[in-house]
Amino acid sequence: MTAFDSCPQCGRVVRRYVDRGSGPVGWVTDPHECPRKPAPAAEPPVEPSTCGARRPGWESGPPIGINRIPCVRERGHQGDHENAWCQRWPIG
Ligand SMILES: [Zn+2]
Ligand SMILES: [Zn+2]
Repeated sequence: MTAFDSCPQCGRVVRRYVDRGSGPVGWVTDPHECPRKPAPAAEPPVEPSTCGARRPGWESGPPIGINRIPCVRERGHQGDHENAWCQRWPIG
């Protein structure tokens, strides 16, 4: 009979059954800061609430430069795209 429980992540004994000796008899827990504890679940990606479209011809590359600033209007908006600099350009 296995008289201990081991950590499912790192295998270290975290709980053991003491049935002899001079000390207290019974289950002894040995909690530890597990070095291999699973990483916290990643937050689900937040759906951007803005349109994010870029000006035609400026779609590639990092969003650097006034012409690459994406549209800040809400997703699915009507009318022209508009960036944070109030530049507007037509949809499509
Ligand atoms: Zn562990
Ligand atoms: Zn837009």
